[in-house]
Amino acid sequence: MSILDEAATLAGTGPVCDACLGRVYADRSFGLTNAERGRSLRVALGLETDVEPESVDVADCWVCEGESGRFDEWAERCVDAVGDVEFERYQVGTRAPPLVEENEALLREEAGLDADAGEAFKSEFNREVGKRVGRLTDTEVDFGRPDVQFLLDVADDSVETTVNSAFVYGRYRKLERDIPQTEWPCRECDGSGRQGRQPCDHCGGSGYLYDRSVEQLVAPVVLDVMDGTEALFHGA
Ligand SMILES: [Zn+2]
Ligand SMILES: [Zn+2]
Repeated sequence: MSILDEAATLAGTGPVCDACLGRVYADRSFGLTNAERGRSLRVALGLETDVEPESVDVADCWVCEGESGRFDEWAERCVDAVGDVEFERYQVGTRAPPLVEENEALLREEAGLDADAGEAFKSEFNREVGKRVGRLTDTEVDFGRPDVQFLLDVADDSVETTVNSAFVYGRYRKLERDIPQTEWPCRECDGSGRQGRQPCDHCGGSGYLYDRSVEQLVAPVVLDVMDGTEALFHGA
């Protein structure tokens, strides 16, 4: 079967939106969105058969049930979800609705194609929503360790945001004795500063064996400057 015969078969399975049609051929050609691929196939079919190319409203698509028309909406929800957290690099992941994944396999079967021909709905979702998040926030996608990760649960209609820690590296010179590197909680009172109802004798009620440590001097400042919620100090 030629690609146009296949496309005609796919399009004939019921209303299939441009993106869902084009996604079957996501690995063909470059620089196109799947919606452009789908639309182009319909135009080519229209030319071949000399009819007006079919237009399918995304909302009517039996494969994605309209989800391919919601990239902008999901991107805006990501931006809302992250609030005022500053970030430069992000990543978008998608949990696809099981029904949509089943429909994708069914669609391909109808034309005798592999169940995973082209690309998966969730791959396109990651990319299309990701591009939009980047544009809206002037940030870059990062597949390694991004500052922020968005998980779109399409069936659950929710966005989960994970803000990864920022690392601050520093060195210091030890000019004085008796300032330990990390906090040193009192072992007699487990850092509570109390022994029963009484202040702890061992640490004088402070909960620490030393009043100052590099960690206690540095971590709160960094936490404050970076508007953080929690600081962990690792001394080496
Ligand atoms: Zn669709
Ligand atoms: Zn103590």
